[in-house]
Amino acid sequence: MSAMTQYDLHTHSTASDGSLTPTQLVARASEQGVTHLALTDHDGTEGLDEASTAAEQYGITLIPGVEVSVSWHGATVHIVGLQLDQQNQALQSGLGALRDYRRERARKIADKLEKAGIPGALEGAAQYASETMLGRLHFARFLVEKGHARDMKDVFNRFLVKNKPGYVSGDWATLEQAVTWIREAGGQAVIAHPARYKMTNSKRRRLVAEFKSLGGEAIEVSSGNQHPEEVRVMAKLAEEFELLASCGSDFHSPDNNWIELGKMTTMPPFVTPVWTQWQ
Ligand code: AMP
Ligand code: MN
Ligand code: MN
Ligand code: MN
Repeated sequence: MSAMTQYDLHTHSTASDGSLTPTQLVARASEQGVTHLALTDHDGTEGLDEASTAAEQYGITLIPGVEVSVSWHGATVHIVGLQLDQQNQALQSGLGALRDYRRERARKIADKLEKAGIPGALEGAAQYASETMLGRLHFARFLVEKGHARDMKDVFNRFLVKNKPGYVSGDWATLEQAVTWIREAGGQAVIAHPARYKMTNSKRRRLVAEFKSLGGEAIEVSSGNQHPEEVRVMAKLAEEFELLASCGSDFHSPDNNWIELGKMTTMPPFVTPVWTQWQ
């Protein structure tokens, strides 16, 4: 048997809504036996320099990545980019626009929470966030901390989602923009956690087909805490649309007992892993 490899190609740090710094994330990944780690923070690459320094120290391979927020036919969809040149101008100006929109959205979320009787949410959420990226998970931590919700699950049932206090419909990048920015930066575009979107199977297939026609290369066949049967269905989808297969835990925090770095269902042997195209 060849040297053991363990890929985790979807993770978050404090540069977006994760709770570990890039260095802490790399250290934990190494402890868990991950040999190839992609840092894929939401709409930004600020964590990559620190992660790459740490990866050298710990002797693991860091894949520069990002997770781009997309609005597609009324749904929010996430597109991961892998093996990016983070210096690329087209990519960075696109991500910059998304982060500007995040600030605007954060103000709207806070206004709505205030109207629902919860003041101070913007400042409260910002306490959990880095300078560059403010997201719903930061508002969620604030709501739990202040006793408005029991835990994360409770927050995302009662706040910040459709028809609930603090909901703002997303106005993110188009699918074409996300794929184009990633490709212009020399990266591979990957549909993140395809099973998690609340859409019909036929809509999901339209998404995959359109993504493919725009030059998208891969889909996440295996995601953290995903049921093996679902992994098999996503693998079939990859095979049918001739897309490469990726796997990533979507790790955010050690507080979530269900998701660990490098831990996910093994992909079936009939798919072609995204890393076969590397180097
Ligand atoms: P945003 O991109 O700011 O709208 O926030 C999306 C993020 O919120 C996701 O990446 C997750 O980190 C978190 N999130 C969304 N829904 C849930 C949920 N049901 N449970 C826990 N975290 C969630
Ligand atoms: Mn997140
Ligand atoms: Mn996501
Ligand atoms: Mn993610």
